[in-house]
Amino acid sequence: MKKIFFIALTLSLLGCNLSNSIIAQAAESVEITGKLAQKFAAGIKEADLKTHLYIIASDEFEGRNTGEPGQKLAAEYLKNFYVEKNIASPLGENNYFQIISKEHLQRNLKPSENVVAFIKGSKYPNEILVISAHYDHLGIDADGEIFNGADDDGSGTVAVMAIAEAFQKAVEEGNGPKRSILFLHVTGEEKGLLGSKYYVNFPIFPLKNTVANLNIDMIGRTDPAHENNPNYIYLIGSDKLSTELHNLSEEINNKFTKLDLDYTYNLDSDPNRFYYRSDHYNFAKNNIPVIFYFNGTHENYHRISDTPDKINYELLEKRTKLVFYTAWEIANRENRIKVD
Ligand SMILES: [Zn+2]
Repeated sequence: MKKIFFIALTLSLLGCNLSNSIIAQAAESVEITGKLAQKFAAGIKEADLKTHLYIIASDEFEGRNTGEPGQKLAAEYLKNFYVEKNIASPLGENNYFQIISKEHLQRNLKPSENVVAFIKGSKYPNEILVISAHYDHLGIDADGEIFNGADDDGSGTVAVMAIAEAFQKAVEEGNGPKRSILFLHVTGEEKGLLGSKYYVNFPIFPLKNTVANLNIDMIGRTDPAHENNPNYIYLIGSDKLSTELHNLSEEINNKFTKLDLDYTYNLDSDPNRFYYRSDHYNFAKNNIPVIFYFNGTHENYHRISDTPDKINYELLEKRTKLVFYTAWEIANRENRIKVD
C-alpha cells in the first residue's frame, strides 16, 4: 500500500503522464478491494459449515442421487436456506429451481434441478460471477448402503452457502459486491456434468456477461500426498484463460489465507485430467475463466465411507474463505478480469 502510494505520489509530483495509469493500477490492487472483505470473511465459521454438512450428508438425503427423493430433499434444504437468509432467486419470486427435463438428462434419469440464488451487483449488475458446486451424489448401492458424499460434494455445497451468506451480510451493511453473483448448486455432476452442461446451454444470464466461474468440488479432506502438511488446496485452471485471474488468486491467498496452492493437477500432462472432470469445464469451454478448488482423492472417495465425521472443518473453513476472498476481488475490482 505504502509503496504504491509513494510511486504514484512521486510520479504526480514529476507531472508524469504515467501517474494516472499507476493510480488506476493501485485501485485494482487487492490491498484496496480486499481490505473490507476480512470483516465479512469472519462470518464464515466452521461450526455453521459443520451443521449444514451433517444435514446435507445425512442418511435422510439418501446419497442425493440425481432425480431421486434424496436429491429433491437437498434441493429443498438449499432453497429454504436462501429464503431464510433473504437471498433472492434470479428466476424471481419463490422459484429457486432451474428445472432440467428428462430429455436433457440421460434416458434413465428422472427430471432434476439446479438450485440458484442471486445477489445483484451495485455498480455492474450485468456482469456475473458464478460460484458453483454440485449437490448431487451417487445415491444408494445395491445392498442399500448410502453414499453420503460428505466431501464429494457436500463440502463444496456448504461452502457456497456460507459464501452467499457472507456476501448477503455485506449487502445488508451497504457493502454489496459491484458485480452480480450467481450461486449455482448444480445437479447431475456424477452422471456426467449434466447440471452445468444444462446451465451453459440455457444460461440464466448471457455467457458473454459471465466474468468467471469459481467451482468447488471436494475441499473438506486431505489426500495422501498432504497427510503431514494439510494446509493446502489444489487449484486447477486458474491460468488457462486469464493471467489476471491467476495472479489475483495468488495475491489474495498470500495476503489473507496463506494456503499452499498446489498446481500439480493443473499441468496439461497430468494423466488424471481433473480439468475436464468437474462442472467448471463447461464454463471454460465457453471461454469463461475458471478456478477449480479440489483437495484431491482419498481412500473414501466415491465410497460409502465418505461421511461428515471425517471432514476437517477447520480446513474447510479456511478453504471456503479463500474462495470468498477471491470472489470478493473478482466482483469488486474496478475492471472486469481480462481473458488472454
Ligand atoms: Zn464431485
